[in-house]
Amino acid sequence: MSRLYQESLLLQMQPGPPNTSQPTRLLHPPKPQSMSRDVMPHHITITDDEGDERRPSRSISRYGVPLYNYQQIPPYLKGNPYIFGGYRAHIPIGLCMRSLFIWSNETMNIWTHLLGFLYFFYLLINDNLSLLEDSHSDFGDNLTFTLMDSAFMTCMFCSAAFHLFNCISESASKIWLRLDLGGISVGLCGCYFPGAYYAFYCHAYWQLAYLVALLILAVGSMAVQLHPQFLSSQWHYRRLFLYSILIFAGMIPVTHWALTNGGFNSPLVLVFVPKIAVMYLLAIIGGTFYVTKFPECQFPGRVDFLGSSHQWWHLFVFLGYAWIHHCTILIYNYWMVHSCEEHFQKHQSLSSILGITD
Ligand SMILES: [Zn+2]
Repeated sequence: MSRLYQESLLLQMQPGPPNTSQPTRLLHPPKPQSMSRDVMPHHITITDDEGDERRPSRSISRYGVPLYNYQQIPPYLKGNPYIFGGYRAHIPIGLCMRSLFIWSNETMNIWTHLLGFLYFFYLLINDNLSLLEDSHSDFGDNLTFTLMDSAFMTCMFCSAAFHLFNCISESASKIWLRLDLGGISVGLCGCYFPGAYYAFYCHAYWQLAYLVALLILAVGSMAVQLHPQFLSSQWHYRRLFLYSILIFAGMIPVTHWALTNGGFNSPLVLVFVPKIAVMYLLAIIGGTFYVTKFPECQFPGRVDFLGSSHQWWHLFVFLGYAWIHHCTILIYNYWMVHSCEEHFQKHQSLSSILGITD
């Protein structure tokens, strides 16, 4: 961020917290075509319509993408009043693509999940052509890893695309937001599918039951998202509640799996329960950033470009998926060297006491 632009933001920040009651002044769409990089210096400051040079209304970043402050963006982009500057608005798809390579307040949100998409695409190839191929996998293993990696890719891609294209228009933003939220449901299914498949690897009945339950949960959550009020601010807490249910519903099969595998007498349970706890810890930390809007709520305008809560949320979503992929490889490796008969002989104690059988 240039010093000139920083000064312009500071001038606007000085009165204190953003004045959300100030009426939104919709700027005319910028004319980037007339702003060639050769004639337009990077981060040039443009005065507003009143010509008050002390209160610049927008700056033109590298590649001619205009950036606005909070007071100047349309209401549908005003999701976080603690982020003061660096907003893109009213720009066509071409400038959206160019904005990949500038510093806006969405740059980190886009790249964290765009790189995440590329990472899981690499894993999809590597899992199928190297990891599974070398360990004599069967069709179920390949299907499980493929669905998991594809679900994570879908979530990462939809999220990156939403943050890249949400500035085109309100209608475009709503379409991409629906895809973004749908991608979260798909990503959560990608977390549960390998868990249900490998946790109940030797319990065909429960394996099928949980996979069917997972399918119902996925279709149900998608159906709720089609509700016309789903994207409204009034449904903010209902959305959080829905995703919390989807996340913590996983505790049911985890508890069932621990009991059917010998409880805390079992080395397998002792190894994997802490790993599952790490997964939930990552979800809780990421969700806390998302809900509390920390750190920007404590440092408004100071983390607009780097370090805001949504960027931490993205990072923890990615780490959660990567962790689940890592744990799936571990449990897959376990089944590669243990037969079901051998497994049952080792871990039948608590399940037989509690009468939990197929
Ligand atoms: Zn996001």
